[in-house]
Amino acid sequence: MEGRQFVKVDIRRPRMTRRNERPEDVVDRLVGRRLNHLGRIGKFMVGEVEGDITLIMHLGMSGKFQIKAVGDPEDKHTNVVFSTDRNEEIRLVDPRTFGFVAAHTPDELDHSSIGDLGPDALDALPGAPVLFDRMAGRKVAVKTLLLDQRFLAGLGNIYADEVLARAKVRGDRLAGGLTFDEVKAIRSSIGPVLKAGLKYGGTSLDDLAYLLPDGRAGDYTRRLQVYGREGDDCRTCGTPISRTVLGGRSSFWCPVCQT
Ligand SMILES: [Zn+2]
Repeated sequence: MEGRQFVKVDIRRPRMTRRNERPEDVVDRLVGRRLNHLGRIGKFMVGEVEGDITLIMHLGMSGKFQIKAVGDPEDKHTNVVFSTDRNEEIRLVDPRTFGFVAAHTPDELDHSSIGDLGPDALDALPGAPVLFDRMAGRKVAVKTLLLDQRFLAGLGNIYADEVLARAKVRGDRLAGGLTFDEVKAIRSSIGPVLKAGLKYGGTSLDDLAYLLPDGRAGDYTRRLQVYGREGDDCRTCGTPISRTVLGGRSSFWCPVCQT
């Protein structure tokens, strides 16, 4: 997408621009301007647009981007269409509409969705001593803290469970009660789990809400150690995987391997 100029931005579902105070700003600030750089912080895609505009996009629970030629048939739930100067359309398809597209000025950025994000879990993961200090005294389940994007940006429900399984720590333990070695184990599990997720194209669940841009299902699903495997044998010890709800999220773990 880098280097492309936005020729037209078509917002089909106004809800997708809810993060801008004036939704029409999204169109006004992008059309006619070029995307100079596109990066990522945590789960947010962050674009630098001409004129000091920051484009922020999030796929929510079910969003996906497609790059299509003008005139290609449209999928259902095509909610935002960016037409570029390369005679193509970048389409955001999002059935559940938890995703969004925002365009912010420098003034707005501090108060935006990315204003209070913690360090990126993949690219800027702090060392174990820093994480240990930041967990000290926290009376919150460690999994809930891992999901808090202000603590670390980038871990979602599936990958938090997988990180904790690899680290052999139960997600319902209080963050402030973990030993340094446990924090170290969690810290050193984050990179391998996220990198494996990327390598295998992410995790497509039964609903196939998440797919790769070319329509393939993510293949990390078959490699999950605990997530979504309630009652199935732990791949390490054979004990049935347990499920509980933590902070409102389905959580899976091995009652023997994780302590
Ligand atoms: Zn086990």
